[in-house]
Amino acid sequence: MNKKKDIRALTKDQLRNFFVAEGDKAFRGNQVYEWLWIKSAYTFEEMTNLSLETRTLLDNHFVINHIEVDKMQRSKDGTVKNAIKLHDGLIVESVLIPTGTRTTACVSSQVGCTLDCLFCATARLKKMRNLNPDEIYDQVAAINKESLLYHHHKLSNIVFMGMGEPLMNYNNVLKSIEKITSPEGLAMSPTRITVSTSGVPKMIKKLADDEVKFNLAVSLHSAIDEIRSKIMPFSAAFPLKDLKESLEYWYAKTKRRITYEYVIWDGINDDKESINALVKFCKYVPCKVNLIEYNPIDDSDFKQAKPQVINDYVSNLEMNDIIVNVRRSRGKDIDAACGQLANKS
Ligand code: SAH
Repeated sequence: MNKKKDIRALTKDQLRNFFVAEGDKAFRGNQVYEWLWIKSAYTFEEMTNLSLETRTLLDNHFVINHIEVDKMQRSKDGTVKNAIKLHDGLIVESVLIPTGTRTTACVSSQVGCTLDCLFCATARLKKMRNLNPDEIYDQVAAINKESLLYHHHKLSNIVFMGMGEPLMNYNNVLKSIEKITSPEGLAMSPTRITVSTSGVPKMIKKLADDEVKFNLAVSLHSAIDEIRSKIMPFSAAFPLKDLKESLEYWYAKTKRRITYEYVIWDGINDDKESINALVKFCKYVPCKVNLIEYNPIDDSDFKQAKPQVINDYVSNLEMNDIIVNVRRSRGKDIDAACGQLANKS
């Protein structure tokens, strides 16, 4: 077993103190910190402005538990899926989605998922563990590098829509965002980050209390309790009235519009009652609706609703002045689309 400490668990002050205790200057800690975060160095060897002695000293005390892009798959639409190997050998997936002049990173927050949505491939995996803040940060940094390499511009947006339920790994997700948005990290604007949740009311309220500056998306899929708890069994414990109340709380505190993600399935939520319920739900707080295309997963009975039903949804929402987008899937041919991340390869 490797007894060396993970250097990225140290704060900048702790690193500075380490060097002082070793008889060096505190400033050395700043240099190393910059290598670890802004430059995403994976080895001490890369830290070329440090002396060989300093690099050896670091090597004797620490490891860098970085992720490794184990396998990259490219879709014909330009989407790239990374299979990411963690330091303990577990695998998660993250996705680079190019759209015009922009690049979006879709990142994972857990190995597997805590929840049990019947239509999602990730839910079929066992939940192994939460990702730590630097494992989330590394996924973003890796996609940023790929964006620079293939598209010649930096990453523009981040969505926490990969594997896992971000609000069930609350502290680590927030810590990773702190680093991603920090000038000592990737210096990205929080307004370009969206955290997607299946809707855990208590944690949505906590986000509001913590005054987070990023955007919130909620995977709604039905505004009728009986239907929602059938397709998202965990939600039986979180009735829509609690979700509604938490979203009102969020809006009161943040004044930021919520995005609802919604898939329309044949025989599940393709009726008039479902449409009316969604319209009603959308009136509680300012929002917009993304109608997501269903991405079929193995051995599942779910089927995308007919185009006519999708049109009915769109016209009813628009008639009620609710913003609605119909989202086409990206990266379907490599199982990189919403709900398809399941470490297949
Ligand atoms: N657990 C979080 C983060 C995952 S985001 C959440 O549920 O929001 C992944 C998004 O894809 C969610 O909106 C999810 O409901 C949706 N999704 C899951 N399986 C899907 C599928 N097979 N086709 C289309 N969308 C799916």
